[in-house]
Amino acid sequence: MQTYHGKKIVKGIAAGRLKYYSRQKHKVKRIDVEDPEEQIRRFHEARRLARESLKALYDTAMSEVGRSGSAIFEAYQILLADQEYIDAVCDNIRKNKVNAEYAISKTSAVLEKLFSSFEDDYIRARAQDVRDISDRLIEVLSGDAAAAEPLVLTEPVILFCEGITPSELIQIDKSNLAGLVTLSGSSNSHTAILARSMGIPMLSGIDLLPTEDGKKAVLDCWEGTLITDPSTALFREVEQKQQQLQQEALLLAEMKGLATVTKDGRQIDLFANISSVDGAKRAMASDAEGIGLFRTEFLYLESDREPSEEQQFEVYKAVAKIMEGKSVIIRTLDIGADKQASYLKLPKEDNPAMGLRGIRLCLQWPQLFETQLRAILRAACYGKVAILLPMIISREEILQVRAHIEKAKADLEKAGYEYRDVPLGVMIETPAAAMISDLLAQEADFLSIGTNDLTQYALAVDRQNPELDNLIDPHHEAVLRMIRLTVENGHRFGCKVGICGELASDPTLTETFLQMGVDELSVSSSMILPLRRQIRQL
Ligand code: PEP
Ligand code: MG
Repeated sequence: MQTYHGKKIVKGIAAGRLKYYSRQKHKVKRIDVEDPEEQIRRFHEARRLARESLKALYDTAMSEVGRSGSAIFEAYQILLADQEYIDAVCDNIRKNKVNAEYAISKTSAVLEKLFSSFEDDYIRARAQDVRDISDRLIEVLSGDAAAAEPLVLTEPVILFCEGITPSELIQIDKSNLAGLVTLSGSSNSHTAILARSMGIPMLSGIDLLPTEDGKKAVLDCWEGTLITDPSTALFREVEQKQQQLQQEALLLAEMKGLATVTKDGRQIDLFANISSVDGAKRAMASDAEGIGLFRTEFLYLESDREPSEEQQFEVYKAVAKIMEGKSVIIRTLDIGADKQASYLKLPKEDNPAMGLRGIRLCLQWPQLFETQLRAILRAACYGKVAILLPMIISREEILQVRAHIEKAKADLEKAGYEYRDVPLGVMIETPAAAMISDLLAQEADFLSIGTNDLTQYALAVDRQNPELDNLIDPHHEAVLRMIRLTVENGHRFGCKVGICGELASDPTLTETFLQMGVDELSVSSSMILPLRRQIRQL
């Protein structure tokens, strides 16, 4: 038994036999040619054939893993039609009077080197895409493409290799591909994206000798380990767990595309909580019906300075576009308390959870607030965007926010930017807000209950204090009564009412929430399908 530690690329576990995969790379020889134009013609013909086969791979990926995993094959087709790339190869052929294969490999090597030299992980990962494309063209030119047999796996296998391209991965029989172990590879590579959308656990940074081929192994990509020659008991345990998880995933996958509706026909909006553009992608992949809470403070916390209007606009716009017209509820900056950004130099407070946080901070720092409002209003042109206000305790705060929104709109108009008006929602996460939810509902367009803070403030128990874990009880009757009151008040004044705190995904309360009349539940993406299944059984 030997344990290897690697980089976790796609989470999951697997048990199976190790299988070595080596790329059948065509050796490219330089051949000096008399007629470069003939080589250019061969290059164009190879491009046409490669695009055709990529189109087929795109269709396969689309039907097997959907948009996220198939996008790379679309991008490859675009790269093959890229004029700069085409010109670079043709120039190389003409200038050096060489065969098309050689010119392609040389041009690609330059591009690969260029991408690899970037610090940015994402751009570096594009080097592999260029390699994949050039290999494909060379295969076509050498006639290897037609000859290459796709790998057929007859038992559950953990494939190990130096690296594997998306085109190679999509062509492997997935029914027995239990896991993937590579020497090189990053989380941003398209191979990783594809493996993720296929649900194949993947670990990188593992240097295994080809002689390990055929050994039994277990892969734990939560821990980042590969164990070769495991004990029979361990192998069996992982195998059973993996089967159980696969079974569960299959059952959940059946929920995709179905309505979130109870047996007696009551429909509920099942939204996702996110904090980034990647989160929106995960929400879509989980079939969320919208974003119920976009925690924007993470944009501020991840940066060493306040994100500009433009930077924020790009992020909100990307999320709106990813969600393809589904609701995107963007919560304005909820910084303070446990979420501190040093560059903001917030005053030190004795009791920060009750201090200058959320909307209080934004109303005191109008420039900071209006920058974010302008970015959101502009992004609203790209989808169904709404604004959600954190930590509201009074009507006056909403009126003040409306004034800032008007100011932001006027500034945008003056500067000639396009924007859209958006609905304004209020978080009910203080007892004060719950108790006056009738008044707030008259000023707001919708309400969203933040049970995490509502619980801590209702029970006067700090949610950050591990010593008080046993007291922080979101099932407390006080919290449930406030939720019920909020729903009643919201509905009385025409507001939809959602829950976006952690309690929204508590399965023991789902039926209670439905009986109360809650219109929307916003939960982490991984909870969307389990919750839909539960609601459809009620
Ligand atoms: C909440 O308080 O319930 C909530 C959703 O907001 P956060 O957890 O970000 O404070
Ligand atoms: Mg909160």
